[in-house]
Parts: sequence; C-alpha cells; structure tokens
Amino acid sequence: MKNEVKHVLGLSGGKDSSALALYMSQEHPDLDIEYFFTDTGEELEEVYEYLSMLEGFLGKPIRNLDPDRDFRFWLTQYNNFLPSAQTRWCTKNLKLKPFEKWIKDEYTSQGYTVYSYVAIRSDEDFREGLSSKNKSLVTKLPFKEVGVDRQGVFEILENSGLGLPKYYDWRSRSGCTFCFFQRKIEWVGLMERHPDAFEKAKSLEKSALEHGSPFSWSEGETLDELSRPERVEQIKRDHEKRLAAVARKRVVNPLRPDEGMVDLDEIYGQQKICLACHK
Ligand code: SF4
Repeated sequence: MKNEVKHVLGLSGGKDSSALALYMSQEHPDLDIEYFFTDTGEELEEVYEYLSMLEGFLGKPIRNLDPDRDFRFWLTQYNNFLPSAQTRWCTKNLKLKPFEKWIKDEYTSQGYTVYSYVAIRSDEDFREGLSSKNKSLVTKLPFKEVGVDRQGVFEILENSGLGLPKYYDWRSRSGCTFCFFQRKIEWVGLMERHPDAFEKAKSLEKSALEHGSPFSWSEGETLDELSRPERVEQIKRDHEKRLAAVARKRVVNPLRPDEGMVDLDEIYGQQKICLACHK
C-alpha cells in the first residue's frame, strides 16, 4: 500500500473555487493539484465557458466527473418530488457521491491520503458538507488560513485577468439552472436570459406538483405565478429598493476604495449554501 498524498480541488464554476484554484496555482506551484468539476448536466452555459477560460489560466485540464445517472433519473427515484433545502437529494447523488467514489476508487483504496481544498472564505463560518466518512480524505481551507475574504476573492480574480463569471451580474452562484437556492430576482434573471431553461424548470415543477410534491422551486409560489408581468415588476421594484438601501449604508473602506460592488449576498443576506454546487 502506498503512503502518498494527492491534492484535489473541486470547481463549481463559481467565483470562490475559481479564485482558490488561481491562488493555489500561484502560491503553491509545487503542489500537483487535480482540478475537477462534477457536472449535473443542468448547468448554465456560462459555467462551461468560465471553466474553459479557467483551464487556460491554470494551464491544466479540469477533470469532468460525470454522475452515472442524471437529474431526471433521480427525480423519478424520488417520486418526482423536487429537491429542496430540506431534502437535498440532488447534491448527494449528483455531486457528493461521484466525488467520494472517484476519491475512494482511484486514491484512498490504494493507500493515498487525499487533501481536498475547499474555498470557504475567512468571512464565512459554515462547515456543512465538509465532513466525510473517509478518514483518508482531509479537507483544507486555505482562504480561512490566510484570511482571504469576499473582497480578496474579487481581487484574485481581477488581478489574474480571469474576472467574474458572466452570469454574476444577474445571479450570485453557479449550479443547476433551476437551483431552489435562487432568490426570486435570480428566477426573473433566468426567465429573461435563459427562457428555455426557465420553461424546463416550470415543466419539472408542474409535474412534481401533479405528483404531490410539497415544494415548488421558489418559496410560496409556482414559477407560473412568479413569471406573471405584475409579479415580475414587483420583484424588480423590491430588488431595486433593497439595492439602493445597501448602497446607501455602505461605508467606504479607505484601504479598499474599490470595494464598490454590491452583490446579492449583501442585499439578501448570506444563505446556507451548498459547498459542492455554489462555491
Ligand atoms: S445546484 Fe442546487 S439543484 Fe443543483 S445539485 Fe446543487 S443544490 Fe441541487
């Protein structure tokens, strides 16, 4: 049995994991890190574009881990009930299991210890999703260790030339087009920018509700209701008001005068999110 170490870093197509990959490749070029992405098959096209640009910056391929069954397969296994924050069968089957299987089959069962680098920032405090039953899989949090916060992530992306993912001006996170963690303004953004994906989400929801699913995608209303013109206007008005209120309260930090960007987490508060999908 080997007693060697492997280094892996999961990318979601989001800003934090991308910044961490850039950080590790610049600050620890000695580590031979394997970058990977677990594809649910339901991602935004902007995510693939961003990952492909990132590959260029890293000078390394990003391995695609395909779950052997797609979202629709699992949906039928769960009686057509939509996943929700309370029953997140999607992350478990589409993201976590393929990752754990890969690590076990290729590395830990061969005696390797695997260090998995996760992009929890220094201004974040959640640890959900970090524990594994596999004792040879060790989670490392470099941003916590060196104090990289949200603004630090923006700076890494900006300074490297990669910048933010294209979807960032209307949606705060990577992950499935129909992710239930989306805020209402993000659903409106999906409807306006990716009408086909929005219609697909609507049809999955319709079928789920017909099968007795207790959840719609967005809390308290169906996508049909959310997409009515008067409701869309209301959601946009509410968003503008919140945005203006946050911008007014902002205190400019003289050490970081460029800290100008207001993002959805600031407006709506930090959500409990999924590390595998949204980092
Ligand atoms: S992005 Fe959202 S819907 Fe997709 S697997 Fe992750 S939590 Fe589930």
